Amino acid sequence: MKSIDICDPIENLRGVNSKITKQLEHLGIETVRDLLLYFPRRYDDFSVTTKIKDITIGEKYTISGTVLSIENNRAFRSRMAITSAQISDGDRTIKAIWYNQPFLIRNIHKDQKINISGKVGYQQKSLIMQNPAYEVLNLNSETTHTGRLVPIYKETRGLTSRWLRSLVKNALTCSDQIEDILPEDIKKKRSLISTQSSVKQIHFPKNRKEQQEAKRRISFDELFLIQLVILNSKKQLESVGAPKIIPDIKLTKTILSSLPFKLTDAQKKALWQVLKDMEKGVPMNRLVEGDVGSGKTLVALLSAASTAKSGWQTAFMAPTEILASQHFTETIKVLTDANLNIALLTASESTAYEPELKEIYSPKKNDLIKMINNGKIDIVLGTHSLIQDKVKFKKLGLVILDEQHRFGVKQRATLLKDQDFTPHLLSMTATPIPRTLAMTAYGDLDISLIDQMPKNRKKVITKTASGKERKKEYDFIEKEVKKGRQVFVICPKIENKNQDDVELTERQLKSLKIKAVKEEYEKLSEKIFPHLKVAMLHGKMKPKEKDQIMKDFKDKKYDILVSTSVIEVGVDVQNATIMMIEGADRFGLSQLHQFRGRVGRGEHQSYCFLFSDSESENSRIRLKIMETCSDGFKLAEYDLKMRGPGDFLGKNQSGIPDVAMEALINPFLISEAQEEAKKIIEKDPTLKKHPKILKRISKMTEEIHFE
Ligand code: ADP
Ligand code: MG
Repeated sequence: MKSIDICDPIENLRGVNSKITKQLEHLGIETVRDLLLYFPRRYDDFSVTTKIKDITIGEKYTISGTVLSIENNRAFRSRMAITSAQISDGDRTIKAIWYNQPFLIRNIHKDQKINISGKVGYQQKSLIMQNPAYEVLNLNSETTHTGRLVPIYKETRGLTSRWLRSLVKNALTCSDQIEDILPEDIKKKRSLISTQSSVKQIHFPKNRKEQQEAKRRISFDELFLIQLVILNSKKQLESVGAPKIIPDIKLTKTILSSLPFKLTDAQKKALWQVLKDMEKGVPMNRLVEGDVGSGKTLVALLSAASTAKSGWQTAFMAPTEILASQHFTETIKVLTDANLNIALLTASESTAYEPELKEIYSPKKNDLIKMINNGKIDIVLGTHSLIQDKVKFKKLGLVILDEQHRFGVKQRATLLKDQDFTPHLLSMTATPIPRTLAMTAYGDLDISLIDQMPKNRKKVITKTASGKERKKEYDFIEKEVKKGRQVFVICPKIENKNQDDVELTERQLKSLKIKAVKEEYEKLSEKIFPHLKVAMLHGKMKPKEKDQIMKDFKDKKYDILVSTSVIEVGVDVQNATIMMIEGADRFGLSQLHQFRGRVGRGEHQSYCFLFSDSESENSRIRLKIMETCSDGFKLAEYDLKMRGPGDFLGKNQSGIPDVAMEALINPFLISEAQEEAKKIIEKDPTLKKHPKILKRISKMTEEIHFE
């Protein structure tokens, strides 16, 4: 047989036909290397075999024995094929039953030694295992599917973990060809195993220790490379020029004295950090992180005011049209004494504010673009329509991104290109990113925390309830609506019972979500509140439709808005006082907190109802926390502990393997990787002496920029 090469296409492996090739492609596996780097998401611990006399019914075991008999039957009614085998461990017997797999009779024979792993039950006076994992034992080789830590992979339709296991095992014969990028001295100093061993051990660890070692090595590489990319991009940024913005203290004071409130200390500090950054002549790259309603926009606007007075333009980008236009209104209000030209440019709007006459007018879109391009407009608010080709800012000094995690890195890059100077970048997010995570995932950003709320904010009263108590809350809603208030209803309602179930595609998930919203909408509008005005919002609608509904809701044309999680971002509906969330246990606490932030923005007392039918103690406790805690950062830390970093990064987008995800929050490993990355860059700034590392980080940088 021809030996396999790690670069070979996957179809060169034995047993892989064109159909399977397609399925593997779904999992992103095209070459043998891809397969080897397709790591298990978890393990079933079948490492200990148990004697039948020692088992407890209802628990999982691996039993090793001899096949006494095996036969196929058909179920009386359903005609389903049932394969049953009697297995003896020399002392007692157990029955194994498989459904719909009549072919098993060809793989498993009488008198063979076999392992079966699974949950033990009791039926018709016999111990049984239904659909156990099984493995016919070959005394000369170690087991793959039973009697060990068994790797479980993310599956796709038609490709099971069992199948992937065999395939990976086959491919592992060339694991020695995988490159190890780390210099020996680092490995030695940090007690890291080789890449080759880590790949073998991550798939088929002999024990927990081997699995941990492998995970540590793989995670270290990931963190190390991320740190290198960060150091590199920081260095690059420092080498280009940026506009020097002189803080206009006098103007800042004038603006502040016109407001009906005082800045919080946290806002002052953040503003100060931004102004200091922009003075330097090196591009700022700063993230302002602050809870919903903490007043981030104001910090951004004051930064824009100084930028304008230094003769530079600001582009302020929001993720939706409605947010952009909300910001436009706010900007005019706040900067009314600053004597600046302000404009709004979105797909459907082109509006400008003339400061001398204090007048809002609507130029033609092309005319507005001309005014931006010739530098007349000081501050432009908009959506990503600001990055279209025609818009070429004359002197772009500051880019502000609201809810920045909504923007792709690519869009960000587009905004920053084509300038003699690189503009300063200020991003804002209400999703608190726990510190450890920020060090890695957002490591190239400086962070300002606004960890303080303006005084006199009313706390949103939060209550968790089981579905049965809905009636009471519906009555309450009725009363509030009569008082003239409005209500948000959020529903996910996606059953995702078993992590190992075949994964749904994005499209399938979306359609399920929409089904849930539609059902809820019909229920509320037809049965519960037929006399109220109910609207629906979901992700499949066109942005224009969505914006229209949000606008109408804001204008009180509806009483209740039923929605998927698309309303998450900072839209301000002052009159909405109730946020009702169905299936609340399926959201992260941070996300629930975001939803909750949609209400309590006006003068009225607001409420948040969290419905959950989950019986798990864990979800109950998680939701209870929402009742007492209104600190987004605490909730985020809690989420991170309970659910891992996927919630913050978007598991699918981040491109970081599951096994390394956890490491992103391991402060010790992070600082080890950080130290080593710094040392390498100090000694070898261009990485000339480390070509393997250079190759990997160039590839990472490319992927980041072209995602
Ligand atoms: P977010 O941080 O969620 O973007 P916003 O910037 O939208 O919050 O601020 C929410 C509201 O709070 C706005 O109406 C804003 O004018 C107001 N606000 C901002 N700063 C303060 C403050 N220091 N005291 C009182 N209200 C403030
Ligand atoms: Mg905001």
